[in-house]
Amino acid sequence: MSIPKAELHLHIEGTLEPELAFALAARNGVTLPYADTEELREAYRFDDLQTFLNLYYELMAVLRTEADFADLADAYLTRAAAQGVRHAEIFFDPQAHIARGVPMGTVVEGLWRTLGRSEETHGVSTRLIMCFLRDESAESAMDTLEAAKPHLDRITGIGLDSAEVGHPPAKFRAVYEAAAELGLRRVAHAGEEGPPAYITEALDVLGVERVDHGLRCMEDPELVERLVRERVPLTLCPLSNVRLRAVDVLAEHPLPAMMDAGLLCTVNSDDPAYFGGYAGDNFDAVREALGLGEERLRELARNSFEASFLEHDEERRARYIAEVEAYEFP
Ligand SMILES: [Zn+2]
Repeated sequence: MSIPKAELHLHIEGTLEPELAFALAARNGVTLPYADTEELREAYRFDDLQTFLNLYYELMAVLRTEADFADLADAYLTRAAAQGVRHAEIFFDPQAHIARGVPMGTVVEGLWRTLGRSEETHGVSTRLIMCFLRDESAESAMDTLEAAKPHLDRITGIGLDSAEVGHPPAKFRAVYEAAAELGLRRVAHAGEEGPPAYITEALDVLGVERVDHGLRCMEDPELVERLVRERVPLTLCPLSNVRLRAVDVLAEHPLPAMMDAGLLCTVNSDDPAYFGGYAGDNFDAVREALGLGEERLRELARNSFEASFLEHDEERRARYIAEVEAYEFP
């Protein structure tokens, strides 16, 4: 579905398609334990979190140079633009790269080679959001923020991702405070597999302006009321929720109930190479499985721009929203 939209929950490492993985492996002399792209594509059909994470980290071995990260971002933007994405706020996981000897500068400057001119090349404006791995220590997160300081002109904000349960937001209070002092915007994954209390904690302790996933807020009516009142955007990822079993089947996804409750919902792709589709594919899937009508789909698209970090560019935000209003469904 090509309705103009912003993508606000997208891990760039999760856009690595089998074909590019093999191309980069060849370029870098890395041997992948798969005979060909077909066999690798089969491996993408995992059905639990641990199998996904194992594969995800295994394939990162092919990302070594600035050119690799530039190519990864270019491949994503090509697919996203074809599905109506006009603005993308892109997550990356520096700790996963630093741990295997790829420095922060290679990752950020490599991505920036593509993102710095994405409007001219792809017609997509972009922002970069640096995520901390929540199953790593708070000290490691602080070291990562320190390593990012020479590159802050490229980085709009920080986020928090990876295995949620057992790693509450409060663990990262200090690094979020330090990031706020540096003028960085703040988001965090919360309430995907973790409890609603993690969402409250992310808001109160980390000062997040947007909650990634957040679907378990529906278990706490007072929290829903607060999120509605404070207009806190939620970045939902329906196809991801099905693949990682946050919901059993898409037809049971709480998205319609969340919209009925007045929550500011957006639809995103998370790790699209692994979870079965890009932003437009997620729009198509919720339209089909949940029977969302055109006005609901338009609301989701409008929300995505309202929730975007375009505060220095209100003229652009208004232009994107006007494109949404003018969109004619096929
Ligand atoms: Zn995510």
